[in-house]
Amino acid sequence: MSISENLKKIKSSIAQHVTLVAVSKTKPNQDLLEAYKAGQRVFGENKVQEMTRKWGELPKDIEWHMIGHLQRNKVKYIAEYVSLVHGVDSFRLLKEINKQAAKYNRIIPCLLQMHIAEEDTKFGLDIKELDEIIDSEEFKSMKNIKIHGLMGMATFTDNENQIRKEFKSLKNIFDDLKPRLKDIDTLSMGMSSDYKIAIEEGSTMVRIGSSIFGSRNY
Ligand SMILES: *Cc1c(COP(=O)(O)O)cnc(C)c1O
Repeated sequence: MSISENLKKIKSSIAQHVTLVAVSKTKPNQDLLEAYKAGQRVFGENKVQEMTRKWGELPKDIEWHMIGHLQRNKVKYIAEYVSLVHGVDSFRLLKEINKQAAKYNRIIPCLLQMHIAEEDTKFGLDIKELDEIIDSEEFKSMKNIKIHGLMGMATFTDNENQIRKEFKSLKNIFDDLKPRLKDIDTLSMGMSSDYKIAIEEGSTMVRIGSSIFGSRNY
């Protein structure tokens, strides 16, 4: 199937309130343009350099989401244009995003990445670290970032119960966060292999790559 057919099929299988982020990392501009022509406007990348190049080369009404691990020294390259940073996993990173956003007079929307998987290889905050950030005076005074919600990745496994359990735990943290911060509206969870489970468990944003663009050759 073509990229546009894949997109159409996925679109029709997810509820309208769920935002589809087309994860285009490693893919050539031509593939992104095919998705663009089929109406897709939200793209996710995990490398700063690649995303910035594509931002320069592709239509200006594309929303670029940084979904990967973001290093503090690279925030400056995306601060001008990034639409959403999914993987904020430390207070230091959030402070740097706030600082760089100020230079462009912007408010950069962010998601805090929570560690929900069993593997210790996945990045993310635990609940204590989350509380430390949002209860701090410094956080409350930050003018150039806005936390819209949470992002998480489930364990890479065939065990559906395990994945479901992890998504449920993220949804619970998300629900607890809602009364504590305004503007909480986004729960980013689910990729090609598990987005259906994620939506059943309350995801509002899915990040799908290979089911749209085909498998990646690194
Ligand atoms: C690559 C990636 C995805 C998409 O993965 P697929 O399995 O190709 O859908 C989603 N989220 C993150 C953080 C990624 O790095």
